[in-house]
Amino acid sequence: MAIRSMSQSELTAELALWRDGWYRFAGQRDSPNYGRRPINVKPDLIVLHCISLPPGQYGGDEVQRLFANQLDWSLHPFFRRIEGMKVSSHFYIRRHGELLQFVSADDRAWHAGVSCYRGRSNCNDDSIGIELEGAEGDPFEDSQYESLAGLCAALLQRYPITDIAGHEHVAPGRKTDPGRGFDWPRLQRTLGLPRQCFPVGTVEA
Ligand SMILES: [Zn+2]
Repeated sequence: MAIRSMSQSELTAELALWRDGWYRFAGQRDSPNYGRRPINVKPDLIVLHCISLPPGQYGGDEVQRLFANQLDWSLHPFFRRIEGMKVSSHFYIRRHGELLQFVSADDRAWHAGVSCYRGRSNCNDDSIGIELEGAEGDPFEDSQYESLAGLCAALLQRYPITDIAGHEHVAPGRKTDPGRGFDWPRLQRTLGLPRQCFPVGTVEA
């Protein structure tokens, strides 16, 4: 088989970490639940979440189905409570660290809902949502922290990220994820970011 030599630009494109907001090391999935970001808005906030369907059960494909609007609401009583919900997240990190992407990070995913952070409301406009497979109060897996740190580092390279917060910090009183099981100091240490990048009370000694 002949090996075709690649031009420099082809090689650069091939090796690029990002292509139109899609991360090279994430499995690409489709979600119709997204829109354009407001004009001239670049994401500078990462919002961390946790999710499992039904809550506390891991390993199935229900979350992927939810983001694709293909979840059968009749399969579980909990699904009835969220029936018709149209949501998405840019990224989803499974218990073994597998990384999936549903929406280009250049676009606006529907993960935060009614929210406010740093005096700015509607966090979906200027944030990137990352869901960790998990349940509030449960600890997360080492492989999830590794996957998350690699993803955050790649996001920090491409976008003008200044803050990382939880859903519980951008929608206090309404949301409590990722919850007490998430180790904020561990993420801060791994990324080597200053404390100011994280919500008050999460990374202080
Ligand atoms: Zn959330």
